[in-house]
Amino acid sequence: NPVILWLRQDLRLHDQPALVSAAQAGPVIPVYVLDDEAPGRWRMGAAQRWWLHHALNALGEALAAKGSRLILRRGSAVRELQKLADETGASAIHAIRHYEPWWIDAEEKLGERLCLHDGNHLAPLRDVTTGSGGQFKIYSAFWRALSERMPPEKPLPVPHSLPAPDHWPSSEKLSGWDLLPTNPNWATGFAPDWTPGEAEALRKAKDFAEEVGDYPARRDMPAVEGTSRLSPHLHFGEISPRSLWHALGSGANAAKFHKELAWRDFTSSLLLAMPDYGDRNGRPAFDKLKWRKSAADLKAWQQGCTGYPIVDAGMRQLWTTGWMHNRVRMIAASFLIKHLLIDWREGERWFWDTLVDADYGNNSVNWQWVAGTGVDSNMWGRIMAPLGQSEKFDAGDYIRQWVPELRDVSDAQIHDPEDRPNGYPEKIIGHREARERALAAGRAIR
Ligand code: FAD
Repeated sequence: NPVILWLRQDLRLHDQPALVSAAQAGPVIPVYVLDDEAPGRWRMGAAQRWWLHHALNALGEALAAKGSRLILRRGSAVRELQKLADETGASAIHAIRHYEPWWIDAEEKLGERLCLHDGNHLAPLRDVTTGSGGQFKIYSAFWRALSERMPPEKPLPVPHSLPAPDHWPSSEKLSGWDLLPTNPNWATGFAPDWTPGEAEALRKAKDFAEEVGDYPARRDMPAVEGTSRLSPHLHFGEISPRSLWHALGSGANAAKFHKELAWRDFTSSLLLAMPDYGDRNGRPAFDKLKWRKSAADLKAWQQGCTGYPIVDAGMRQLWTTGWMHNRVRMIAASFLIKHLLIDWREGERWFWDTLVDADYGNNSVNWQWVAGTGVDSNMWGRIMAPLGQSEKFDAGDYIRQWVPELRDVSDAQIHDPEDRPNGYPEKIIGHREARERALAAGRAIR
C-alpha cells in the first residue's frame, strides 16, 4: 500500500525525516492541503500566500525530478487527508511535527494513522523542559537547556528517488487557488528580493556561511545585508534549522547566529504552554490596559506616514518587500504600542498579513516581548526612543532608500528633518508627550 507524505511548513527534500520514512514504507504520495479552516483567524496572510504559490511550484518541480508528484488539495486538512487515505488505500500518513495549536489539534484528530517526525526545530521541543517538566518562559534559560543538546543531529540527505504509486490520485491546480494578488498587484516589489524554494534557501545559506563572522557587528544595521534573510525560507521549511546550523560551522563565528536561530525554537516551545499567545496577554494584568482606538493613527503607522523617518522607512520596506529588518521591527512595533498606545494585537495582525515570514510563534512572542505584556519580558516602562535608535543604527541610508521624500536631506537632519520636504508629514505625536501618556497608562493598571 502507498503512504501519504503530508507537507506543511516543511517544503523541502533535504533533511526531511517524514519523507525518508515514507519512502522506506512504500510508494509515496506527497500532498499539500491548503487549510483555511483549521487556523481560523490565523489563516495564512496575503504575503505568505504569495510565497506559498511560488514555493509549491518549486517543490512540485523538485518532486517531479525524483519521479514523484505533488498532490494539491484544499479544505480541512484532517478531512482531506482522511479522504485521500480512503481513496488510495494508504496505510499511513507521515508528517513533520509542528507546534501551531491548530496543527497540534489536527494531528490529534488524525490519530494512529499519523506518524510524526521531529525535524523542523533544532531539538524535539517537548523534551526541552525545566526541572519540573514545564516549558521555559524565559529565553536565556531555554537557551541554556537547548545548548546542552547542541549541535543538533546531522541533516538527512535527499533520497535518490521516490517510489511512486501505480495510480496517482487527482490533484487540484495551483493556479486555481488564487494565491497571487491580481488587481491591484501589490507584490511587484517582492520578486526582486525573493526566490521561494529549497534551492534558493540552500544557496543563500551557503553564501551566508562566508559572512557569518560579520553577523554580530552588522546584524543591527538595517541599511546593510548583515543578516541571513532566511526567515521566510525557514518559516516554510525550505531549509531545515539543523542543516542551516551545520552549514554555518561550529566555530565562534557562528555562535551568535546559532543563538538567534534558537529563538525560533523558543517561540514554538512557548506555544506548547500558551497556545493562544497570539490573542492573549501573557501577563493578565495588561487585560485592563486602556488602549487607544484610533483608526487614523493605525493607518498612518501601516502606511509609513507617522513623521518618524525610521518608523516610516520600516513600514514601507515591509509593504514593498514583505520583510522588515529586525531592529526596525522592534522600533516600529514599540512605536505603535507605546507612542500611539494602540493594542499590540493590531500590529501583530498587520504583520501577519504583510510579512512573507509571518510565523505564529515568532510574531506573537516578539510582539508581546516588545510590548512587555509577555511572560518573557516586563518592559512596559522601557520605551524605545525612535530618534535615538535611528541615530544609533542608521547613518541615513536606510531612511533615504525607503522614504524618497527625504532623499536630499542632510545627514544632520535625516532622522528628524526640521523642514518637512516633499509633503513628508509632521510627527504624529511628540516623543515626550507619548512617553508620559504610555507611562501613565502603565501606572493605571498597577
Ligand atoms: P537572522 O538574523 O539572519 O536570523 C536567522 C533566523 O533566526 C531568522 O530567520 C529567524 O528564523 C530566527 N530569528 C532571529 N531572530 C528571531 C527572533 N527575535 N524571534 C524569532 N526568531 C528569530 N520572525 C519571523 O520569522 N516571523 C515573524 O512573524 C516575526 N515577527 C516579528 C515581529 C516583531 C515585532 C519583531 C520585533 C520580530 C519579529 N520576528 C519574526 C523576528 C525577526 O525580526 C526575524 O526573524 C528576522 O528579522 C528575520 O530576518 P533574518 O532571517 O535575516 O534574521
